[in-house]
Amino acid sequence: MKIPFLNIQREQLPYLNEIKEAVSAVVDKGWYIQGERCAEFEQLYATYCGVKTCVGVASGLDALRLIFRAYIEMGVLLPGDEIILPANTFIASALAISDNGLTPVFADCDPNTYNLSVATITPHITDKTRGILLVHLYGQVTAINEIQALSKENNFLLIEDAAQAHGAIFENTKAGALGDAAAFSFYPTKNLACLGDGGAVTSNNLELATLIRSLGNYGVTSPTRYSYKGINSRLDEMQAAVLCVKLKYLDSINKIKQLNAKKYKLALNNEKITLPCCPIYESHVFYQYVIQCDKRDSFMSYLFEKGIETQVHYPNVINKQPVYEEKQNKILTTAESISERIVSLPIYASLLEDEITYIIDIINRY
Ligand SMILES: *Cc1c(COP(=O)(O)O)cnc(C)c1O
Repeated sequence: MKIPFLNIQREQLPYLNEIKEAVSAVVDKGWYIQGERCAEFEQLYATYCGVKTCVGVASGLDALRLIFRAYIEMGVLLPGDEIILPANTFIASALAISDNGLTPVFADCDPNTYNLSVATITPHITDKTRGILLVHLYGQVTAINEIQALSKENNFLLIEDAAQAHGAIFENTKAGALGDAAAFSFYPTKNLACLGDGGAVTSNNLELATLIRSLGNYGVTSPTRYSYKGINSRLDEMQAAVLCVKLKYLDSINKIKQLNAKKYKLALNNEKITLPCCPIYESHVFYQYVIQCDKRDSFMSYLFEKGIETQVHYPNVINKQPVYEEKQNKILTTAESISERIVSLPIYASLLEDEITYIIDIINRY
C-alpha cells in the first residue's frame, strides 16, 4: 500500500463541484478584488470564530505582519519591543515580528503539549516584553486561561498564530477569539484551505481591524487619501469564494481528523512511540498528528519502505536557523530535543479506514 503524507486532490474531491461553481461564478462576474465574496467570507468567518470582525489578507504571514504593523501605527508597540514566541514553530511566526523592527524572543515549549506555557514564557520576560505570540501548534489550543491571566497582569498583547487551528475550541471559545487579535492562513494544506495563498485577521478590536484593512490596501483611508505606507495584501474573490464553500465543511473535516486521531490513540501500542497528549479533543483539530520516537530518521525510512510517507514539523528550532543566528547561543532544551524526535503521520480527512489500519499495523510492528 502507498500512502502519501497528504493527498490534496482526494481531500477536495467531495467539494470539487461546488468549488468549481463558486470559482466559475467569480470568473463570469468579472470582479476579482475587494468584492462581495470577500465581504461575505469575512462576515461568515467572524461569526464562525465568535469575534466582531475579520479582515481577509493575502497570506498567513501577512495576517501576522499586519497585526504587528497596526499596533506599531497605533503606538501600542514601538520598534525594539520584545515579543515572546515558541522556538518550535513555522518560521513565519518569527518573520512577522522581526519584519516590523520588533524583537522575537524565543521560548521553550511544554514537553507534553509542544506549546508555550506560563512556565516556559516566564524566564524570558524582561522590561522590554510587550507581547506574546501564542502559536496553537499542530492545531491544539492549550494553557490559555493561565496565559491570558499572565498577559493581563503584565499588560502584554496576546496575539494568536492560529494558522494551524481553524475551529479549535477551548472552553466554548474558538481559536481566533482567545487573544487581542489572531492570524489565520488558508494555505492549501491547512484545515481550512483555499486554492492558493490566503489569510485573515480576526479580532474584537474594530480600530485595529480598520487599520489592518487600510494597511493591506496601500494605506488608503478614503478614496483619494493615503495615510500610511501600506502594502498590497488582500484576499481575492476567487479564494474568498472557495473559502465560503469550504467553511461549511470545516467542522466536519475537523471531526474526521479528531476521529482519525482517536483511532491512532486506541490502536498504536508500540513502546518506542510517544503519542500526542490531547486531553480535550475539541481543543485539537489535528492539523498535524505528531508522535515521537528515538532514531526518528530510521523510523521514517522504515515507514517509507512500507509505502507510508511522513514529514517533520519542524526539524529545526527557529533560533538555530541561519536567519536568527544572533540567537544561537540560547538553549531551549525541550524544543531542541523534541525537534530530533518528532514525526508527523498522515491524518487527513480522506484517509481510508484500511489505510489507517495499515499505518497502525506497520507502526506496531516496528
Ligand atoms: C502556515 C503557517 C503560517 C504562514 O501562513 P502562510 O499562509 O503560508 O503565509 C504561519 N504560522 C504558522 C504556525 C503556520 O503553520
